[in-house]
Amino acid sequence: MSQAVAAPAAPEGCDERQVLRQRGQREVFCGLTGIIWLHRKIQDAFFLVVGSRTCAHLIQSAAGVMIFAEPRFATAIIDDRDLAGLADANDELDAVVTQLLERRPDIKLLFLVGSCPSEVIKLDLSRAAQRLNTQFAPTVRVLSYSGSGIETTFTQGEDACLAALVPTLPSSDDSQLLVVGALADVVEDQFARLFAAMGLTKVRFLPPRQAGDMPPVGRGTKYLLAQPFLTDTARELEERGATRIAAPFPLGVEGTTLWLQAAATAFGITPAAFRAATEMAQERGKRALALHRDRLAGKRIFLFPDSQLEIPLARFLMRELGMTAVEAGTPYLHRQHMADELALLPESVTLSEGQDLERQLDRCRAEKPDLVVCGLGLANPLEAEGMTTKWSIELLFTPVQGYDQAGDLAELFARPLVRRTRLAV
Ligand code: SF4
Repeated sequence: MSQAVAAPAAPEGCDERQVLRQRGQREVFCGLTGIIWLHRKIQDAFFLVVGSRTCAHLIQSAAGVMIFAEPRFATAIIDDRDLAGLADANDELDAVVTQLLERRPDIKLLFLVGSCPSEVIKLDLSRAAQRLNTQFAPTVRVLSYSGSGIETTFTQGEDACLAALVPTLPSSDDSQLLVVGALADVVEDQFARLFAAMGLTKVRFLPPRQAGDMPPVGRGTKYLLAQPFLTDTARELEERGATRIAAPFPLGVEGTTLWLQAAATAFGITPAAFRAATEMAQERGKRALALHRDRLAGKRIFLFPDSQLEIPLARFLMRELGMTAVEAGTPYLHRQHMADELALLPESVTLSEGQDLERQLDRCRAEKPDLVVCGLGLANPLEAEGMTTKWSIELLFTPVQGYDQAGDLAELFARPLVRRTRLAV
C-alpha cells in the first residue's frame, strides 16, 4: 500500500554536505514489499503477514507471479472481530500457524511479519514467535519482524528481516567475508567466482539460500554490505563481533570494482591477484555501458526518496554515464554507510533526506528533468504531466549489481527515454 503520511513539520536545514532535510507528507511503499524479493532467497522460508485485506492485496498484486508456484507468503487477516477485541488474536494466530505448518512440511523458517493493523491492535509478534518456537522448534524456527508502513519504507523490510535473523546465526570467530544483503542468485554466483579467483575462499552470504545453511558470525567476520539500507542488520552484526568493510555499493563498473577492492584489501589480496581476477569482467562491463552512454549522457535526472539506492545510483549515472542528477532524495541518510558514496558524488547534485512531497514535486516541476525515478504512486501523475518516469521498485526486482549487470542497469534508465521518443514520433 502506498501511503501518504503527514509527519510533524520541522524546519528545512542544511549541513556541511548541503543536505536538504525534509519532514512532511511522504509517498513510499511499506516494508511488506520486501517479501517479494526475500521469498526468492531463503527458499524454505515462509512469510506470514499478520495484517488486513489491504496488506494481502499489496503483496498479492506486487507478486502476482507466485500463482504459478507453491506460495511462500500469505496473510493472516485481522478482521473486525479481532479489531473489536471479540476474538483472541493470539489464539487465532496460533491456529493459523499450526494449520499452515501441518500442511506445508517443507517450511523450515517462518517469519511472522507485522503490519499497521497488527501494530494498531498491539499484537506482540515477538512474543508470539517465542511461544510458537516452543511448539515447533527445532523442525521449524519462528521469527518476527515489522513491515508496517508506520515504521518502515519498502527496503527497510529487508533490513528488519535480516536484523531478526542475525541473533539466531551460529557463532564462529574464524576469519571470513560475509556479504550482506539480498542479491539475485546469478549475481551472488558471479561475486563468489570473482572472490574465489582472487584467492578469497571463505565467503558467505546473508541471506542464504536455505534456512539450514545460515552463515556463522563472530569476531573473525568482516562484512561487506551489498545494499545500502541495512542499518539495523549492520548494528546486530557488530553486536556479534563482526566489523564492517567500508566501501561504495556494487552498482556500475566503478562501484563494483571499489566494492570488491575493499574486500580484497581487508583480506590482504595482492593488487596483482585482484587485477587478474577482475580485469576481463571490468572490460565487459565498460563495453556494455558504452552502448547506453550516447543515449543517457547529458540527460537530467531527478530521484525521489524511495529505495535508499538513490545516492549510489546518482553516483553511477553521473560518473559512468555522464547524466546530471539534479536532486537525489533518500528516505534516510546513514552518513557512515554512505561515506564512500558521498566522497564520489559530484557536489553539484542536491541531496535531500526525508520528504515533504508537495515541495519536492514543486522542485521537480521547476527543474523539468528528462527522467524522474520515483515510486509507483507518483509515476502515473507525473507521466500525465508529461514527465518520463522510472519506477524505483524495479531496481530491487532486477539483478543490477556487479560487472555483468552494469549494462542492464544503464538500460533500465535508457528504456523510458526510448519509449518517450517513440511516442513523440
Ligand atoms: Fe498498508 Fe500498512 Fe498493510 Fe503496508 S502494512 S499494506 S502500509 S496497511
